[in-house]
Amino acid sequence: MHLEVSLRVLRCLLRAPPTATPSHVTSRSLTTTFTGPWNYVRGQRCNPATVDGRVIKVLEPATGGVLCEVPTSDAAAVDDAVTCAHAALPAWRQLSLRERGRLLMRAAAVIRENLHDIVNLEVRDTGKPIWEARLDIESCADAFEFYGGIAPSVAGQHVPLANGSFALVVREPLGVVAGIGAWNFPMQTAVWKVAPALVCGNTFVYKPSQFTPVTAVTLAEVLRDAGVPDGVYNVVQGEGETGGLLARHPLVAKVSFTGSVPTGVQVMRDAAAGVKAVTLELGGKGPLIVFPDACLVNAVKAALMANFLSQGQVCSNGTRVFVHRSILGEFTDKLVTATRKLKIGNPFDDDTTVGATIHEEHARKVLSYIDSAKREGCRVLCGGERELLTGPLAGGWYLQPTVLADCTDSMKVVQEEVFGSVVALLVFDDEEEVVARANNTDYGLAGAVFTKDLQRGHRVSAALQCGTVWVNTYNLYPTEVPFGGYKHSGVGRECGTAVIDAYTHTKTTYVEMGDVDCGPLYQD
Ligand code: NDP
Repeated sequence: MHLEVSLRVLRCLLRAPPTATPSHVTSRSLTTTFTGPWNYVRGQRCNPATVDGRVIKVLEPATGGVLCEVPTSDAAAVDDAVTCAHAALPAWRQLSLRERGRLLMRAAAVIRENLHDIVNLEVRDTGKPIWEARLDIESCADAFEFYGGIAPSVAGQHVPLANGSFALVVREPLGVVAGIGAWNFPMQTAVWKVAPALVCGNTFVYKPSQFTPVTAVTLAEVLRDAGVPDGVYNVVQGEGETGGLLARHPLVAKVSFTGSVPTGVQVMRDAAAGVKAVTLELGGKGPLIVFPDACLVNAVKAALMANFLSQGQVCSNGTRVFVHRSILGEFTDKLVTATRKLKIGNPFDDDTTVGATIHEEHARKVLSYIDSAKREGCRVLCGGERELLTGPLAGGWYLQPTVLADCTDSMKVVQEEVFGSVVALLVFDDEEEVVARANNTDYGLAGAVFTKDLQRGHRVSAALQCGTVWVNTYNLYPTEVPFGGYKHSGVGRECGTAVIDAYTHTKTTYVEMGDVDCGPLYQD
């Protein structure tokens, strides 16, 4: 038995209803090998013109072997990509919204036609189970369909004023947007930024994580095949230094960042120096609260989804599972039983539910949190160790999903973002108490409440200080609704229609239809 989430049901929940897409898009073949070049500028793969010798060895999480070697982009390479995106702006913003929307719809169709190949690339790059990667890549097509579909409605306003005067409020693109992404959902992270930015008439330069450089370039080929003009979307590879060069570049109007809080603070600082807009999608330490009237099977399923998808490397995870004292025993037994049934294995096997941690250093960090929890008095009910696989998978870092009991709020594992498959079980007695404890964190990305009491569900949702609250489910993000954090979890939102404000200026043109009335300032 595997993760008790039916793939079919989850897929239905995550996907928007089918949208009318162009019946067929003739796709030039997307690159499916792991050979470079890895930057993408002016509509083609390229190497940085001046390679300073720094090359990132990208390891395949599943095996620990080298997947590809990627040269880092220096200041000249970043400048070249940004200049190219800037040059592409006038023609791109000149297209009508409907035309840009149509191109995004075609991008969705290219993704769906090449789903198998793109999913394979994402699995090798991330080590996540293939069924999850399929959902991630399908959600990229969903996002392009959503923004392609709403494109014609990204309009301004006509505001009637006194005496026949009026104002036009028009939306204008910001200019060149820089995107910087994390490694856990590589292509989806890029698409959540690129799709709304492009539909608003901006052009883009994206820097993926050094650990997952591949599908940002695949996205460039998808957009090329969809007919998006050269230069509208560009990729520079590199480490944090390259990200910093991008965020500080004078021709970059906005930085959209996904990653950790400390890096987000640095990006905000860099952007502040140039008075640039930022969107920051940062970390989380979500609460999942289970009241005694909840359906326990559903609550257990949600706890699995809140902790064990993508090896627990999910920003919105509900890692602090607060369980009412009266049901603690029953809930714990059910959760541990379900967790023990998860199957650690080759990410390409359809029945694998736990793949490989992104890299050794991160795996050791996750294990160190479990060690610290034990030292602070937690009991490990299941998991807690590295699982050594054999054959080609022997070099991968596969961690057993872990459930910790006897946790208290002050423990390090309860306070800090672990970013791994580690559930901390916490016990509570009443609603007011649990809400206060759930909110007692600097993070505020997401959380959930499990109850059959409609009023309590809404009351707790209203009281939780986070950008998303799920009632009786967890970790679903349809493109139609905004996603983002309160407090240190970030600034701004992605997805939904609200994001349009984040990628446009509004310009007010006030038209005076009478004489200028300046009061006593002017005397005949
Ligand atoms: P990091 O903050 O380490 O890195 C994120 C990106 O920033 C990477 O591309 C990294 O480059 C780049 N970077 C590093 N330093 C700088 C700098 N000084 N200036 C500009 N860019 C820089 O995060 P991780 O990649 O380790 O991702 C894990 C974190 O991301 C977790 O905290 C998680 O919660 C959060 N996250 C948040 C999400 C959300 O939507 N809220 C979604 C997914 C993850 P490189 O890695 O190449 O060095």
